[in-house]
Amino acid sequence: MKTYEQLYIDGKWIAPCGTGTIDVIDSGTEEIMGRIPEGVEADAESAIAAARVAFDAWAATPAAERGEYLRNVAANLKARTDELAGLIAGEVGMPLKLARAIQVGSPVYNWGAYAKLASEFQYEERVGNSLVVREPVGVVAAITPWNYPLNQVTLKVAAALAAGCTVVLKPSEIAPLTAFVLAEAIHEAGLPAGVFNLVSGYGPVVGEVLASHPSVDMVSFTGSTRAGKRVSELASATVKRVALELGGKSASVILDDADFAVAVKGTVSACFLNSGQTCSAHTRMLVPEARYEEARALAKRAAETYVAGDPRNETSRLGPLASAAQQARVQQYIAKGIEEGAELVTGGAGLPDGLSKGFFVKPTVFGRVHPKATIAQEEIFGPVLSILTYKDEEEAVRIANDSPYGLGGAVWAGSDERAVGIARRVRTGQVDINGGTWNMAAPFGGFKQSGFGRENGVYGLEEYLELKSMQFRV
Ligand code: NAD
Repeated sequence: MKTYEQLYIDGKWIAPCGTGTIDVIDSGTEEIMGRIPEGVEADAESAIAAARVAFDAWAATPAAERGEYLRNVAANLKARTDELAGLIAGEVGMPLKLARAIQVGSPVYNWGAYAKLASEFQYEERVGNSLVVREPVGVVAAITPWNYPLNQVTLKVAAALAAGCTVVLKPSEIAPLTAFVLAEAIHEAGLPAGVFNLVSGYGPVVGEVLASHPSVDMVSFTGSTRAGKRVSELASATVKRVALELGGKSASVILDDADFAVAVKGTVSACFLNSGQTCSAHTRMLVPEARYEEARALAKRAAETYVAGDPRNETSRLGPLASAAQQARVQQYIAKGIEEGAELVTGGAGLPDGLSKGFFVKPTVFGRVHPKATIAQEEIFGPVLSILTYKDEEEAVRIANDSPYGLGGAVWAGSDERAVGIARRVRTGQVDINGGTWNMAAPFGGFKQSGFGRENGVYGLEEYLELKSMQFRV
């Protein structure tokens, strides 16, 4: 049991203003694994005030020195890898081995990457008779979800600190524990008081104060489209800069000359990663009508290798979902898929065989899903793949783009050139070509209702910089 009773504000661990607490539930055992304070409006306000006071000095700190602090944070996190992976396996449900590599490896890498970028980035350039400088945008509020909790926090906090901004973080109430470990790592790294502040609590309380407060210059939000719209609406009253990373319904388009065995296996893997709790999961697999039976058989075989089990077991491949609410939501979508007439290829309602507790669902594949069916349109956020068929390339592109979202996707073809031709027509922020792997330096973010703004690498740093031009007499 990991219990935190204090919030991190102005360089100190302090008692929250309210008396409420939030239990953190272990996704595999359904038992309480931690407890955090339920912050209230006054806590958010004092954190914002501390960040405001700290801003001028942090912005004026040489970028190389800011980078040095970030490098120390990376080292402090790395030293706690096993502890962090264990917390995430419990909170989120990602199997330990994957959690260690992805959920902890990525943030450690990204703190290091932003340390380097802070000092190497060109903050100034001459344009004609102007000197164009990039300055930190100010006080940043970061509001994050539960599916990749430490990395989503890192992509905002490390980038904002590198840019010279000060930060108030409100992590997800469902998976908040690694944010507290991060606050400890930041404290040990000796960052000046007020540069980073942590206020845990609920979105409609702490989150809404952060999104609407006049002293906050920018709000960076990752989460559901529903909450993102609310944050955007609140932020507009004071014309804040807003970055939104929202949901997705990404398509994996398999063309007739692709290697089907590789493409289908790759799509199932990109759908089931983190039990489908990935915003850019490839949840719609588009295959030529004439090859449906082959794709269906390959998908069934691939999906059935994902045996669900205890996320704390090193050999588990598929863990539970993060919460009972999420489990119920995914079960409803599975029922809806059946009700609307899709072919159930594997999986379905109920718990996987041999499991009686934990927020598990069966790894599920639906075939012959209509492009307008609920399960082809809405984000499910569970291990549920929909196979859709198309007649020709034109129709494949049309179906891929028939979504309110525009986050990720994939194209598989006999050549990269052919795949790129289709990828250019897909209206999303990322497209993986023939199984291309995640690139931590490439921009990540959405078109359409998947949001706006980009994270990762230099693109993520630029989000937290404001442009100023100074003109000289010629
Ligand atoms: P959520 O929107 O419920 O919560 C996200 C965060 O917003 C939490 O910290 C929550 O407390 C806060 N929040 C909720 N209501 C709020 C309000 N009214 N004002 C301010 N803050 C509020 O989302 P979730 O269930 O935690 O995460 C799952 C969603 O996140 C999925 O839709 C997924 O696609 C999306 N997501 C997107 C990305 C991306 O980069 N595009 C990455 C991960 C997750």
